[in-house]
Amino acid sequence: MRSSIIPMTLIVDAHADIAYNMLKYGRDYTNAAAETRRLEAGTANVLENEDTLLGWPDYQRGHVAVVFSTLYATPVRWHTGANNLQVYKTFDEAHQHYHDQLLIYHRLTDSTPDKFRLIASVRDLNLILDHWMNPLYESGHPVGMVVLMEGAEGIRSLSELEEWYELGVRLIGPAWVGTRYSGGWKEPGPLTNDGRKLLSAMVDYNFTLDLSHMDEQAALEALDIYRGPIVGTHGNCLSLMPNSNSNRHFSDRILEGIIERDGVVGIVPFNSYLKVGWTVGKNKREEVSLRHVVNHIDHICQIAGDALHAGIGSDFDGGFGLQSVPPEIDTVADLQNLVSLLQARGYSETDVVNVLGGNWITRLKRDLPK
Ligand SMILES: [Zn+2]
Repeated sequence: MRSSIIPMTLIVDAHADIAYNMLKYGRDYTNAAAETRRLEAGTANVLENEDTLLGWPDYQRGHVAVVFSTLYATPVRWHTGANNLQVYKTFDEAHQHYHDQLLIYHRLTDSTPDKFRLIASVRDLNLILDHWMNPLYESGHPVGMVVLMEGAEGIRSLSELEEWYELGVRLIGPAWVGTRYSGGWKEPGPLTNDGRKLLSAMVDYNFTLDLSHMDEQAALEALDIYRGPIVGTHGNCLSLMPNSNSNRHFSDRILEGIIERDGVVGIVPFNSYLKVGWTVGKNKREEVSLRHVVNHIDHICQIAGDALHAGIGSDFDGGFGLQSVPPEIDTVADLQNLVSLLQARGYSETDVVNVLGGNWITRLKRDLPK
């Protein structure tokens, strides 16, 4: 089963909207992606969110040991499609959705601990990694889930941070589009006063700050004022996407800031974020290749002068699926194809291990509570 893959190059995927998909589309991620596709064939799920790329058996095949699993809901002003689930009008509704999603992670990991387990501490992480490194566990390994709150509008008041922390949230991204906390994707602007207060409260718990989706202006200020750990879980390099006219990508200034803070950036294998203008239904998958992903990884490594700051943040099933990823990818397991491409680009075995998962693991060991 594992012979076609370099032994034990573990993957850490720093972004997947698992709970959102479970609650909005009824996806059961204990199933293989192929099984979910069969069940959803011809349904509205596929029209809205394309064919899934995720499933526990695929995580096994691809040695995906850890997934940053999001809490995410859509503000109603950006909602499209007929499916009205996981959409919010008010902060109370956002809170409810984020809370429901967090409980879904608890339920999933309580009911199938052989398949999924929460990671809230270094101890939890080490148990998962030890399991993956132990060849005696022939029936597979639990995928560790680190909970990441994307968009942050589920936080109604700063006094709630303690509860979110106690329930396992370890990373917070203050933006999706613009939020009450920060200018964001499609809605640029600075940090708000609430955003500045959020950051100064987050540091008390050593939450990791995720700059993804933050407008450059807000992200630059956050780099200046946030004293806790800083990463970019899922975003590509703006300088490789000239004329994209999107603030969704990281400028070199932001990349430099994250690297300076010894953070990691997760590259997204989404065709629209790899080739300017690529649109599903209009362009062919074959116009983009996994080599484009390597280009973005390499750009970060060139800025850093090492291979210690680049990683993967797939965002798979986060509004796109099979139809919108490079043709070398059928499921998340095929992220292992990056191994040979990185080696062909001159990356050493150590570099490859770090980019696929080691860099995220190093940060988790540094930043999670013991
Ligand atoms: Zn996102």
